[in-house]
Amino acid sequence: MTDTDDLPRPRPLSMQINISNMIPEESRGAPWYSDGNVVLMSEDTAFKVFKGLIAQHSPKLRDKIENRACEHIDGCPAIVLDDATTDLAHFLGVIHGCDSLRPFRLATKNDFLTLSGILRLATKYEARTIRQRALVPLTKVYPSTLSQWDEAFESNSLLWVLDAVTTVNIARELGALCLLPAALAFLANSTTSREAFGVGIFQTQPLRFAPGLLKTEDVKALSLMKEYNQSTIARTLRFLREQGKERHSLCQRAAEGCCSSKFTGLFVALSVLVATAEGPVGYPTFAIRVQDVVGREDLCGDCRDRVEVGLNRRRRAWWKGLPEAIGFSGWDDERLVVPSCTS
Ligand SMILES: [Zn+2]
Repeated sequence: MTDTDDLPRPRPLSMQINISNMIPEESRGAPWYSDGNVVLMSEDTAFKVFKGLIAQHSPKLRDKIENRACEHIDGCPAIVLDDATTDLAHFLGVIHGCDSLRPFRLATKNDFLTLSGILRLATKYEARTIRQRALVPLTKVYPSTLSQWDEAFESNSLLWVLDAVTTVNIARELGALCLLPAALAFLANSTTSREAFGVGIFQTQPLRFAPGLLKTEDVKALSLMKEYNQSTIARTLRFLREQGKERHSLCQRAAEGCCSSKFTGLFVALSVLVATAEGPVGYPTFAIRVQDVVGREDLCGDCRDRVEVGLNRRRRAWWKGLPEAIGFSGWDDERLVVPSCTS
């Protein structure tokens, strides 16, 4: 915090306040309660709200109001804040229980912007319960367990594409590092280097988000994650190749020469798929392809069971290793602990 942060902020020039020191209708935001007892102003909008409710959630914002409110507007102490108006509106909406905002829903890009604004101010003003509640939907999309990842990967891929870069930045900015491994794993799986870094050999597809938005440390983390994906793909391919090299004692088709040759075919087909794909093939996408291909192959029951166990073991190992791939000590690294929600 700098010294200037401690000084009362001047009233925004764009804020129209009429001669009787009232906020005109067009500058009143929501929430606005005519019987509220404090006026908060940001950019070109004012909110008339209740100090007691603010104090319940954020003693820090209450202290700021008490220490810095320097003039009376609309019959109340008034203070200028430097927050974005939309973020402030949503944050105050949550504090005042405005259900119409549906603040903790996460189904669209707009929901995501609302939620990240709430999270930003809840972190800044140390509103712990609101911060925890805002993190819950985000940790479902960018989870810390493999089963939640599978669920989110199947149901939410569009949302991820839109928001993974922003989520990585929010995770760093707001100290919500529990979102990082899954968000970076998703980015590494679905994003070309051109999209992430703005540099590309072939420019065949439009960018889905502006390049260069990732911070230096996350550019590094994304590169490491891509490499981790690649090595996991290679390990999975090697496992399939090994299956084709031996005769399996429990194979139910031993008399016909075992299922071995089928695995060699699978190894070749999947290698070609990886080698010739034009878009990025990260390990999560690859694992789904492998499942599809193995599922269609005519294998005996024992060979199918054995290979599925082996593939699942590799998938769990991939998930377990995600945090280490980007510099954490593991999922139990205390920096990655998911906050619990008490409300
Ligand atoms: Zn077999």
